[in-house]
Amino acid sequence: MEQRFRDDLIFVGGLWQRGRGAPITSQFAADGSVNATISGASAEDVEEAIARARDAQPAWAALRPHERATVLHRISQGLAAGIERIAWVQSRDTSKTLTETRALAASAAATFRYFAAVAETMDDLLTVPRGDYTTASIHEPLGLVAAITPWNSPIASDAQKVAPALAAGNAVLLKPASWSPLVSLELARIAEEAGLPQGLLSVLPGSGREVGNLLVEHRDIAKVSFTGGTSTGRRLAHAAAEKLMPISLELGGKSPTIVFEDCDIDLAIAGILFGIFSSSGQSCIAGSRLFVQRSIHDAFVERLVTATRALVVGHPFDAATQVSSLIHPEHRDSVARYVDLAREEGGTILCGGAPPAEMALQAGAYFEPTIISGLSNAARTCREEIFGPVLVVMPFEDEADVIAQGNDNDYGLACGIWSSDHRRCQRVARAIRAGTVWINTYKQFSISTPFGGDGDSGVGREKGREGLRAYQRQKSIYEDMSGRPHPWARWP
Ligand code: NAP
Repeated sequence: MEQRFRDDLIFVGGLWQRGRGAPITSQFAADGSVNATISGASAEDVEEAIARARDAQPAWAALRPHERATVLHRISQGLAAGIERIAWVQSRDTSKTLTETRALAASAAATFRYFAAVAETMDDLLTVPRGDYTTASIHEPLGLVAAITPWNSPIASDAQKVAPALAAGNAVLLKPASWSPLVSLELARIAEEAGLPQGLLSVLPGSGREVGNLLVEHRDIAKVSFTGGTSTGRRLAHAAAEKLMPISLELGGKSPTIVFEDCDIDLAIAGILFGIFSSSGQSCIAGSRLFVQRSIHDAFVERLVTATRALVVGHPFDAATQVSSLIHPEHRDSVARYVDLAREEGGTILCGGAPPAEMALQAGAYFEPTIISGLSNAARTCREEIFGPVLVVMPFEDEADVIAQGNDNDYGLACGIWSSDHRRCQRVARAIRAGTVWINTYKQFSISTPFGGDGDSGVGREKGREGLRAYQRQKSIYEDMSGRPHPWARWP
């Protein structure tokens, strides 16, 4: 089916209008062409969206959970029916392969379906009383929530915030990343068609420093749910502290993958390639630091390099492509600078290390899958998030050594372990500082399993049943059952 971009309107409190802020251009970095220019939100648009959200939210919060769940189900169905459209828009917006964006659209549909179910089945608690009263712990929506998302997997990260926040009875103001505004507007269309009451969702493309900042600092915003880089997250946490506002932060990573000598080598190589080079490495959980036990190091790395050279770098719409263009030429240049830094730090480039030579790819923001050896874990290349198809590989001696090296990093998002010794896998999984550990697999996700990071990788968890609670506040209610005056009053 032939696809087209829509008009330049944005979704302000349930109404499609022309934003009064600076225009935003979405680029197809795979060939440098422009997808669309949309109007950006202004401060007035933000105020209007907030006013409409304030008006709409109480009635939404007053609905029974199963009534909210019904609307969320319809959004899920709309997403599922629109997978091809969403995948196309997101592939144009981010240059990800269609295979991947189809999977992300399906996961967004599943996220709405899951949180519809959670909304309908989550219980409040009657707590055990210590006197003649009943006690209940109930949960209420926070009110207005700002969701700020990055460009790497927009439809999935949007859904991970919007679905639980709506399910919990809030209104949501979503600010997508400036490099990928289009797919979030598609989500707004689907939510509107599903009958989400006007005002409950706004999609406000605009610069982070302006629109994002306005949302974070606004007194009517009760919570910010942020996914993005660590330095941005830290800035937002300062602003949240000023307001004493809860904030959840899903941030960057520099995740270790550990290969023990007793692993299944074929499984490990396939998992490592997927863990670092899928999404062209633009993944917070990318397994970007590879530790290989010294006894197998050289032979393993040789096979890994051969397998990496065989990966297909190509156009996102070509079904054979495994590694596509990066999101933007500026980001490709940032990845290239890190590879230069690795050279300066004394690293050896085992493969890749530059944009591909093929003429057909020259207009795009491609970068070859790259493996670097010869660096210590202390090198900047090994400490900082590159967010591209770049893997550093280092040897280790034994379990204690790799746990120490793996944990010697400010991030704590994910870890991969490859070994056939189940007990060892479990020991290392518990000793490594990471929000998620994969054993003999990598980058697998279940919406029912919480996700988040420690240290510089963030604060809080998304997904899972408790993911809904992140958008609610708790209240305790005591009700006297005795009918007697309190003895302290010593009634005359
Ligand atoms: P980013 O530069 O931090 O931007 C993320 C979002 O924050 C964008 O919408 C951005 O808007 C906005 N923003 C920037 N400055 C802001 C400010 N002062 N106030 C409010 N909002 C502001 O990150 P990115 O480059 O888009 O994304 C890549 C990063 O996200 C990587 O570090 C990656 O690891 C992380 N990530 C983490 C997870 C996770 O779950 N842990 C998942 C995916 C990605 P503009 O686009 O307009 O600047």
